[in-house]
Amino acid sequence: MVSLIPSPDAVMQILKRTGAFREGHFAYPNGKHSPYYFQMPLAFRYYDTARVLAVALSRKFRIERDISSQLPKVSVISPSSGGIPVAFGVREALSAEQIYWAEREANGKRMFRQYVNQGEVNPCIIVDDICRSGSALTETAELVKELGAKVIGCGAIVRFSSAVTELEGGGIKSLVDFDAQMHDGADNCVGCRNEIPIERVRF
Ligand SMILES: [Zn+2]
Repeated sequence: MVSLIPSPDAVMQILKRTGAFREGHFAYPNGKHSPYYFQMPLAFRYYDTARVLAVALSRKFRIERDISSQLPKVSVISPSSGGIPVAFGVREALSAEQIYWAEREANGKRMFRQYVNQGEVNPCIIVDDICRSGSALTETAELVKELGAKVIGCGAIVRFSSAVTELEGGGIKSLVDFDAQMHDGADNCVGCRNEIPIERVRF
């Protein structure tokens, strides 16, 4: 019997098994060190794991009366291409009508493509594969508001516990809240102290 919302432990097992979660000694582009690294697309390579994770996240939205009462006239939105598989899975599980995603332009600004027209967008749920700081979700919520649409929910498969907890549309839902133990410098980093070879990663 498979539970519809797997426990955080079960989700972490899936992420480990698929290589989406790794332990070691990692340097992030912002200069911080962490013993952990997530590459969520690796979990979304497989249809079965992608489906389990997306359906589980969708359940967190469906139990909200304000969301379930508006289905299927809801848009599921991803802040970037990385969240597209999550958005497709959540849209399917909720039988929501629309899906959109934003992308970063060359100038660094997050934007929707021109096919998204003002007034056409249903109330929105914003989903991503991972919420590290919350800035992607926050920026996307701003874009949605500029279109004149309402954010009724937001969430990610994994949320770092140091990220923002609330956005327009309520608390950020997640299957796992994770303490990434980000350290500013070498002084507090266990990896540096133990001289574990460091791997530089891109977000
Ligand atoms: Zn370190």
